[in-house]
Amino acid sequence: MNTETKKTRYCYHCRVYHPEEEMRLMVTKTGSRWRCIKSIEATKKPQAEREAYGRQVSEANKAEAQSKARMILNQPD
Ligand SMILES: [Zn+2]
Repeated sequence: MNTETKKTRYCYHCRVYHPEEEMRLMVTKTGSRWRCIKSIEATKKPQAEREAYGRQVSEANKAEAQSKARMILNQPD
């Protein structure tokens, strides 16, 4: 066995190598990629994303409410 030097992984986010213990394996649609914890934490739920998500949810709720209203209106009874 040779004395192992610190393993590094290529971070697809920073496009540099980081020590492996700072890396997380991210599973994406296109496969799995290594990304550093720092970059994950940095981009975790940014304000804009949270707002976009909130809009999506309220849009979905609105659409649901509308379809329910239509269903009630269209009831043959
Ligand atoms: Zn990184």
